[in-house]
Amino acid sequence: MPELPEVETVRRVLEERLRGLRITAYKLGQPTFYRRPPDLKHLIGSTVEFVRRRGKYLVVGVSGRRELVLHLGMSGRLAFGAAGPHLRFQLMLQGEILGFHDARRFGRVGCPLPELGPEPLDSCFDPAYLHKALHDRKAPIKALLMDQRIVAGIGNIYATESLFQAGIKPRRPAGRLSKPEMARLVKAIKTVLRRAVKLGGSTLEDAAYLDPLGRPGRFQKRVSVYGRSVGACGHALKATRKPISGRTSLFCPICQK
Ligand SMILES: [Zn+2]
Repeated sequence: MPELPEVETVRRVLEERLRGLRITAYKLGQPTFYRRPPDLKHLIGSTVEFVRRRGKYLVVGVSGRRELVLHLGMSGRLAFGAAGPHLRFQLMLQGEILGFHDARRFGRVGCPLPELGPEPLDSCFDPAYLHKALHDRKAPIKALLMDQRIVAGIGNIYATESLFQAGIKPRRPAGRLSKPEMARLVKAIKTVLRRAVKLGGSTLEDAAYLDPLGRPGRFQKRVSVYGRSVGACGHALKATRKPISGRTSLFCPICQK
């Protein structure tokens, strides 16, 4: 599933390629993909001014202060040109077509932006904020890091990596983390995400993420735990016995407390 670094990589490509182009038409494919087909007629004739990211959402800002919100879901992919299977949506612009492909249908087009927690790379996401958000919570820390209302943009890969960097077991009840541990976790999240953005995100075999130009990410070669049997620390990794937020989670039984 594309997380903050992948979505940010997509955003950068889209902004460079689409800014200044006028939207001429759009086409909705596969009506069953949409709970309610979005009416985007008001976007036709407007010009793309910017593309911003909020958590895992992309927001295409067009003239007249209008916006088109996109969410890649589990397996959604944006690509220039119209070809490809599972084409759900096409945005036609002057001399450019942006296609939204989604095999697993969890993506969204033209949806409202939900309420989201702070951006993890913003300065307001700090140890004091995390302590306030988590101090009375009993759920596993990993589940709450993946809760978009607490912090936006983190999913399985980057939660797993950040908890390893911070030396914290994924199943620990969030409210039991000490203040130094919260501080280490905030620092680890920022470090991991910045590094992943720099490397264009992660392309794993199960998700096959590619940017809109078809380029894979490179962070998967630098992961410390995710998808490995031996951690970057040299110890054999273990998986949590019970899944957390529907997924088992890898951790180092020696380095993570
Ligand atoms: Zn270890």
